[in-house]
Amino acid sequence: MKNENFKPWLEAMKLDHPLVIAGPCSAESEAQVLEIAHQLKNTDATVFRAGVWKPRTRPGGFEGHGVKALPWIQKVKEETGMLTTIEVGNAEHAKLALEFDIDILWIGARTTVNPFVVQEIADTLKGTDKIVLVKNPINPDYALWMGAVERFYKAGITKLGVIHRGFSSYEKDKYRNKPKWQIPIDLKRDYPNLPIICDPSHIAGRRDLIFEVSQTALDLNFDGLMIETHCTPDEAWSDAAQQITPDTLVKITEDLRIRKTEFGDVNYIDKLTEFRTQINFLDNQLIELLSDRMKVADKIGEVKKERNVAVLQNKRWGEIIEKMLAKSTGSGLSKEFINNIFKVIHQESIEHQEIIMKRE
Ligand code: PEP
Ligand code: MN
Repeated sequence: MKNENFKPWLEAMKLDHPLVIAGPCSAESEAQVLEIAHQLKNTDATVFRAGVWKPRTRPGGFEGHGVKALPWIQKVKEETGMLTTIEVGNAEHAKLALEFDIDILWIGARTTVNPFVVQEIADTLKGTDKIVLVKNPINPDYALWMGAVERFYKAGITKLGVIHRGFSSYEKDKYRNKPKWQIPIDLKRDYPNLPIICDPSHIAGRRDLIFEVSQTALDLNFDGLMIETHCTPDEAWSDAAQQITPDTLVKITEDLRIRKTEFGDVNYIDKLTEFRTQINFLDNQLIELLSDRMKVADKIGEVKKERNVAVLQNKRWGEIIEKMLAKSTGSGLSKEFINNIFKVIHQESIEHQEIIMKRE
């Protein structure tokens, strides 16, 4: 499967920009669905998305209108000519999606984790020529993700792609679901011809981050974006904080830098640019890590201040450097480099803590 070319369905769309899938988190009413779709008609969005069955973390929230909403999605296609996509969470959903002639079925993050359900959906789709997009599982398990894709491939589905929607974690973070970009980077290396679409909405969880997440995805040569779009986002029945209006979508797609000049040509990879993009991405991570480290150092500064303890603790510093030198064995980094880099990091921490000590 690794070298299989899964891109023809995407190339057949003959787009001169990455694929854009847009539409609301949930189909709330026929009027809501059609209003959004008509506003999206004149944007870069080629595919209309809407959740018909909504997997909710806890009971009590809106769980989708189910089959009742499927004719609304069909109407989107009739009235706007857009392709349509919905999430299918079990074999029954898949059967109904086939009946209502939905063009693309996506497998949600909570379904990808369950090989039994994925297999049942794959069996239901056997012999059809549906496009299937598999979201990453909620946990950062690359093998489980690719395993799900493989189940569709083995069922004879060749119009395949994946959606990167980030990974959940217990710790609070600026993202709703951490992007862990290294995973899609590895995936692109292993499956260079498997379309990969980013879902910045579920990664970000808030609309002000949609642009930067989308830009990173395009810098990493993603094939498309799936962005939750709603005419009145604040009133949305689900995921209100992360939805954007069709107008904002237009602005975002206009502002995004698209690096791929020969979209769809799988042989066109400017290696140098690809590596530089990776370096830029890693450098950004370094900054975030250093900033996190410094925040912890600040907290230590507060504790030292309370107890009236000296900022510089030579013993502790000696331990850090020793541990790091041991840890770096075999890392390809010289001892001198480790010494130097930790010295400047330590110096910065001391300066931070001194500021805290001097504060009233
Ligand atoms: C969605 O796309 O609305 C959705 C439920 O996404 P996920 O499966 O990524 O949580
Ligand atoms: Mn959603």
